Amino acid sequence: MILDRDLLDRLATTIDWNDWRWQMRNSIRSVEALQNYATLDDAEVAELETAGSRFRWSVTPYVLSLIDDTDPRCPIRRQHLPSGGELAPDFGSLDPLQEGTNSPTKSVVHVYEDRVAFKVVNVCPTYCRYCFREYFVKGSDTRSSQDSIREGLDYIASRPAIRDVLLTGGDPLMMSDERIDGILTELRAMPHVEIVRIGSRTPCTLPQRITDGLVAMLRKHQPLWLNTHFNHPDELTPEASRALNALADAGIPIGNQSVLLAGINDSIDVMKRLCEQLLRVRVRPYYVYQCQTLEGTAHLRVPIERGIEIMDGLRGNTTGFGIPTYVLDTPDGKVPLSASWFVRRDGDEVLVRTPRGRIWREHNPVGRPDPTTTT
Ligand code: SF4
Repeated sequence: MILDRDLLDRLATTIDWNDWRWQMRNSIRSVEALQNYATLDDAEVAELETAGSRFRWSVTPYVLSLIDDTDPRCPIRRQHLPSGGELAPDFGSLDPLQEGTNSPTKSVVHVYEDRVAFKVVNVCPTYCRYCFREYFVKGSDTRSSQDSIREGLDYIASRPAIRDVLLTGGDPLMMSDERIDGILTELRAMPHVEIVRIGSRTPCTLPQRITDGLVAMLRKHQPLWLNTHFNHPDELTPEASRALNALADAGIPIGNQSVLLAGINDSIDVMKRLCEQLLRVRVRPYYVYQCQTLEGTAHLRVPIERGIEIMDGLRGNTTGFGIPTYVLDTPDGKVPLSASWFVRRDGDEVLVRTPRGRIWREHNPVGRPDPTTTT
């Protein structure tokens, strides 16, 4: 693929480029549309057409402009454009987290008693090739209906145990400011809902969406948290940094949830640069997810032992609070994945492994009488 850089550079200097609705209207969703911006050889056309029929694809002109067409393994291209690897024989399923069985209504996933994921929309600016919600976002019905949002709000209102609501989808920031405002206003009026979180990849794939108007509306609904999704340091462009800083300036704490992906971020160096660059724009690396066993993603999945090695490689090598937790999501909830730093007890001492590979003996006797119960 050879991108028409002159065309993209010309577009990037227009006022429209910074308009998120223009980016969405001009998203590239077919081989024909891509050929307006890029020269493709026959093999690439065939690959896009066959792999693209498995799961819909769409990229904003902004994301397309970030692709390095000189690198066939470009990490941004591998996340968004269909590739032949998706057609390899695989044992993945369509709904690996069995969300269907944990959904009391079409729009609510209720796994933990005090928290729900509220799926308010089923469109995204771009479609990640490894999306575990593929079953939800691939539907031809492009928006969750007003009815299913109503049902979800009524469900949350009727469950006083729910103190934490995650707005998700799809990408909730694909809705208009007015619709988001309406949902947040209703949630905020429920006395038992203590916090609301928004899961959105727009700061990464459509940073133009983070407008002054959106930020002003969101800041009315504190305490509000936002979790975003960057997988590679090359995604932290000046546009993305502007969007993240605008949210942070509004007092909205931002966390990042990455997915560990083969050939994209499965090295200590890339993961370290990603985490450090996120901290520079006030985003806390929160989770790194093991890629789900989803049909068509075998070429992107990394053995869990390798994931543990990468995360261990960060420990002691970068800012402690910049190290995310590596987790495997299961239908029962998230399972942290880590090497055991605890080795064993030896009498009054506990032996632990240090980030430098030494064994440290910590004095830590057990069985000391509780002073509050001695006479
Ligand atoms: S942004 Fe999230 S919901 Fe949308 S395609 Fe990517 S992983 Fe799936």
